Amino acid sequence: MPTTEIETEIHRIRLKGVNAWLVRSGERWLLVDTGKPRSSSALMAGIRFAGCKPADISLVVLSHAHYDHVGCARRIKEISSAPIAIHRLEAEVLRSGRFVVSDGLNAMGRFKAFMGRHVVPHIFFSFQPVEPDVIIDSDVRLDNLGFPASIIHTPGHSEGSISVLFDDGRIFTGDLTITQPLPGIWRHMPIYGSSIAGIKRTWRRILDMGAKHIYPSHGADFPADELAEWL
Ligand SMILES: [Zn+2]
Ligand SMILES: [Zn+2]
Repeated sequence: MPTTEIETEIHRIRLKGVNAWLVRSGERWLLVDTGKPRSSSALMAGIRFAGCKPADISLVVLSHAHYDHVGCARRIKEISSAPIAIHRLEAEVLRSGRFVVSDGLNAMGRFKAFMGRHVVPHIFFSFQPVEPDVIIDSDVRLDNLGFPASIIHTPGHSEGSISVLFDDGRIFTGDLTITQPLPGIWRHMPIYGSSIAGIKRTWRRILDMGAKHIYPSHGADFPADELAEWL
């Protein structure tokens, strides 16, 4: 894995139960996820508080197309020239502004997935559609944008989920991992996804690729070896 001297600084922007992560690498800024719809003023305030002008962002990576991650992507695109990157399997949902929810992986997840699909009006979850600029189809390096990092495909929570893995082992995982106040595997296992086995396979992959510290889109960051005990 290449080494780098580029100084990296990480800012957690908390947006109604979901994080956007703003990373400065040298003079470049990278934004991972954009929060729920109607949180654009908080997102902009967080970006400015970090010392970044929204127009200075070089790349926006959307970990997946769930409404709580892409809600302000359109707004960011309007005020920044940053390209928006998303995996091919999530692009159609991003273009549609449609609310989708993955299957529940435990009783709470199944209940909330049912409520989301059949009970709560989708008006609360729809977002402004966005045309992505970069479609991710395989792992890509970001050196040409100034980031010593790769975008990697990390399916499990959704089939088109992606993560940003920096060469120093810091990784931004979207909902592949989360941090919640529950004991055991549910401390970091998302309650929605294709299967627990599939998520664990991807956990193994990111550890094998050198993940050392994890920045999830829900909850606080944590050392990657906390995942290892569940594999
Ligand atoms: Zn999600
Ligand atoms: Zn989420």
